[in-house]
Parts: sequence; C-alpha cells; structure tokens
Amino acid sequence: MAVAPAGLALVQDFLNTAGGPAGDRLADGAGARDWWREASAEWGPEAEGDRQDLDDHDAAQLRRLREEIKEALYARAAGEAPGREKPLGRATVQLEIGPDGLVQAASRGSGVAVVRSAIALEMLRAQLVDDWRRLKVCQDQACRVAFYDRSRNHSGVWHDTLICGNAANLRASRARRRVSPVKS
Ligand SMILES: [Zn+2]
Repeated sequence: MAVAPAGLALVQDFLNTAGGPAGDRLADGAGARDWWREASAEWGPEAEGDRQDLDDHDAAQLRRLREEIKEALYARAAGEAPGREKPLGRATVQLEIGPDGLVQAASRGSGVAVVRSAIALEMLRAQLVDDWRRLKVCQDQACRVAFYDRSRNHSGVWHDTLICGNAANLRASRARRRVSPVKS
C-alpha cells in the first residue's frame, strides 16, 4: 500500500487505525493514547499540546471523525455529494510569523483537541498544495483502507490492485454473466 508523504502520512495513519492486525487502535482511551504517542513522535515537534491525555470519550470522538473523513473520501471518489452538510469538526491551529517572515503552523489544544488540530493542519497543508485528492480510501466497501494514489492521472481506486481490484473484477464478471447468460 502506498504511503503518503510526511505530514499527510499522519492523516493516512489516523484513517487506518482500524482494521489492521492490532484491531481498532482507537477502541478506548488507552489505545488512543498509545496510538497518538507513536504517531505524534513520528509527526514531529509541532505536536505540542498542554495535555496529551486521551480518555474513552476522546477515543469515541476520534473514531467518529475517522469514519466521517473516510466517508467523505469515499463519496468524493464515487462522485457523490458528501453525506452531511455540517462540518466534521473544528480545530485550533497557531500560526507564528517568524523573524524571517516565514509562517510556522503548530497544533494547539489539549487532549483530543490537539489531535484534531494536528490532523486538520495536515489536511489543510495537503489541500494547499493540491495533494489532498491523492489521499483516497479503497473503493471496496468492506475494505476502505486509506492509501496515497501515486498514479500519474490520479486514477487509483484500490488500496491494493491485486487484492481489492481483482476481487472487484471477479464480482463484476460474475454479475455480467448473470445478466447475460450464454444461450445454448
Ligand atoms: Zn482495499
């Protein structure tokens, strides 16, 4: 499976916290804390927060955000309108104008807010450089693994062509056979 470039990889990692061999990493507060400790260490020093503690309620909020972002990506790839009109979440990000005139962005908040802030920040960065459309979820309804589409024309549909793509082709050809039976 293709991994997104640094930064956006945090969002991909977040979207893929479910369904892996470790089960749902956001199943409860303890799991979410472990995941965030690893993910934020990899993400870097921008992951500042007053309190990085996460409880069961925070984990539930993160699971909801994860499913809603995946839903939005799934709908986008399927050419459908988003399933809802309300924002999926709100986040606070701090911008600092450095002495060199360059702006630095950092996540802010405590608990679940800092996680949401980091994720929103990377989504925004990807959207600013038109990289967001490369982050996709597998169009296999039951799979929905998040992957980074490196194909030249952004045409990737499956997180793994051999696994999910072949299964879909098989289903499609079976369906075609059912629709047009060969006359004997
Ligand atoms: Zn897949």
